[in-house]
Amino acid sequence: MKIRIDGGVVVGWSGTGHEIIPDGSVLIENDTIRSVGKDKSQAVDKVIDASGKIVSPGFVNLHVHSQLNVGDYLLADVTRKDYLTANWFVFGAPLKEKITPPPAPAVAIGRKYALFSALKNGATTVLDPGGGPGALDEYVAIVGQQGGRVFFSPPYRSSDIFTDAQGRLYYEDREDKGRPGLERAVAFIKQYHGAHNGRIQGILNPAQAETCEPALLKETAAAAKELDVPIHLHAGGNAREFLHILNTYRKPVVEYLAGTGILGPRTTLGHMAITGGHSRIDYPRGDELKLIAESGATVGHCPHKCAKMAFAMESFDQYLAAGVRIGLGTDTYPLDIIAEMRYASLISRLVDRDASGARPADCFNAATIGGADALGRKDLGRLAAGAKADVVIINLRTTRYGPWRDPINALVEYGSGADVETVIVDGEIVIDNGRSTRIDEDELFAQANAGAQRAWDGWVTRDWNGRSTEDIVPPAFPTRR
Ligand SMILES: [Zn+2]
Repeated sequence: MKIRIDGGVVVGWSGTGHEIIPDGSVLIENDTIRSVGKDKSQAVDKVIDASGKIVSPGFVNLHVHSQLNVGDYLLADVTRKDYLTANWFVFGAPLKEKITPPPAPAVAIGRKYALFSALKNGATTVLDPGGGPGALDEYVAIVGQQGGRVFFSPPYRSSDIFTDAQGRLYYEDREDKGRPGLERAVAFIKQYHGAHNGRIQGILNPAQAETCEPALLKETAAAAKELDVPIHLHAGGNAREFLHILNTYRKPVVEYLAGTGILGPRTTLGHMAITGGHSRIDYPRGDELKLIAESGATVGHCPHKCAKMAFAMESFDQYLAAGVRIGLGTDTYPLDIIAEMRYASLISRLVDRDASGARPADCFNAATIGGADALGRKDLGRLAAGAKADVVIINLRTTRYGPWRDPINALVEYGSGADVETVIVDGEIVIDNGRSTRIDEDELFAQANAGAQRAWDGWVTRDWNGRSTEDIVPPAFPTRR
């Protein structure tokens, strides 16, 4: 199958960076890009008219938990402050006695909805650090059904977090120290890495810096090397983690991680906003950024999620200046990687009090080549001959943009995932004119809505203090009865 995309503003690749090709053409043959330029003469099976649109490399979203927004909603918990922005503690630290595994259909809906939402917003590749626990063959089937490229294996940790009857959060070592979890992840990768023409890619997911003991991180690094896959680890995402690691190992998080051997060119540190020297941490910044830069590791920056929790990376520009590679992830809903570029830009400007900072080009790089390089994939995140045919077409002829002078500046300043019209993965059109070519979106939305309402209705039975969803997050306005 040969496809030519004609007439759009093509974001091509010069060999060292993105470049703009007005009235360009992209030639796709099967799953590969054959040429990017101006030539529109080749005979093909299908021509897509992209005039008035950006033809962009598919975005890489480095943080998509395959679950519904049930927990995201509860992050706005007004009843407690002691989690110190450790967002997942709010909904993910159950009373031990109240733990009930989610039913399989609920897990499946969460996986389907999240992965589809990220894809529809323009992310042709996502990194899934884990969603609800469930059957892994079903996960692989869902990815195969939807058609996006997903890096995944089930996450694991050597200690869990719980809430006691007084509402106190605490860590508890697992008897198995997380080793069966690592083994399960390795087995998943051995069985499924490369499935569905490479849409399933293996990655190891030791869950959080402070819930994985040093030996588990060391074994993870060895296993990743042997399997030749990348690693994702939540780190630097909250003050509680920073204090816990400082107290336990007498080092800031990055120094601690560097000592375990987990940092490397294919390791992504999800968040890594809280370091020594952060304005919310009374501990000086040392060589942390230098250590990350020298290791070649990537920071998987999720600015919207941080802003939701009332803190920021300090700052996007300062990390870049230190030589740290940055990729972008959404983490929280909406899984809109285009809006995320704007959050990265605006929040960094606020932090640095510099309106000329966090340029759109740097944000676009983070959402494309930053994420691709983090995963060790030079054939993703750029439109060049020989690269994977992962392409998104974004409509700029809307009132949101109006007249524009530069397409990338316009996209970062005004854009939304809702403007994504066409998504091509591996040379296959999976979103056409804003609709999935593979699944029934209305059915998926109805199932997701029913699943989320059920979970919120039933929250009272699993909350540590028997609170309802409305106790935790009061409605914006009272409802007329
Ligand atoms: Zn996360």
